[in-house]
Amino acid sequence: MQRYFVSPEQFKEDRVEVTGEDARHISKVMRGKPGDAFIVSDGVSREALVEIESIEQTSVTAVITELLEMNHEPRLKVTIAQSLPKGDKMETVIQKCTEIGAVTFVPFISERTIVQYDAKKEGKRLERWRKIAKEAAEQAHRNIIPAVEQPLAWKQLLGSFSHYDKVCFCYEKEHGSQLRDVLKPFTAQSLQEPGSAASLLLLVGPEGGFTEEECRTAEEAGAVSVGLGRRILRCETAGMTALACALYESGEMGGV
Ligand code: SAH
Repeated sequence: MQRYFVSPEQFKEDRVEVTGEDARHISKVMRGKPGDAFIVSDGVSREALVEIESIEQTSVTAVITELLEMNHEPRLKVTIAQSLPKGDKMETVIQKCTEIGAVTFVPFISERTIVQYDAKKEGKRLERWRKIAKEAAEQAHRNIIPAVEQPLAWKQLLGSFSHYDKVCFCYEKEHGSQLRDVLKPFTAQSLQEPGSAASLLLLVGPEGGFTEEECRTAEEAGAVSVGLGRRILRCETAGMTALACALYESGEMGGV
């Protein structure tokens, strides 16, 4: 069933107003008509099954027929910090990691980042990335749309480590710890406690990888360097791999 994210203000008492692009999608693409049902989420605390009451090209009024439980989100809140890759690889990272369950993306610039970050174009790219996160979240039936932050410089990224319970620096030079050992505190039972949540930051380098100096400064700032196996993964593969392992280890990949 089609799902749309709306702002909390669009939830009225027993109705939801859908406007803009989403309203156009319902009327033009889905050829919606009164009585048709779809799901809306405010991405914060409300998700509902609704039925179209009235429909125009740029606005749809739908009646709430059932409030839905919001339980699609992992208890382990994983942020993916990705050194800006070339081409449209960042779009792949955002789409796939949204499907798997990441909650935030932090693009950053590191020594071997090839892409020159152009502040003028920044707005457009950031808007595109956020659109991809929204569409992937709708398709994946997420309860929230992952945030895509403004790109950070390396030092800014290091300064953000204290916001997380754990920071993993994905490093293919085999001196890192086993991801499984690092994730021990996040196993399923520890996150079963009601109200328990934990936050993990995963750092992934660009096509050329991280420098030894970056590994040193990241560890100094509190990161643990971890290996993802004896194969060299592409930068756009590494983040989703580490994310899937982390969510598997914390029991978020079914089976609980
Ligand atoms: N330096 C690599 C290319 C870097 S891959 C080479 O020799 O070709 C891009 C990023 O993916 C790396 O910076 C690292 O963050 C991550 N990565 C790739 N393979 C990995 C592995 N086996 N273990 C941990 N991280 C890995």
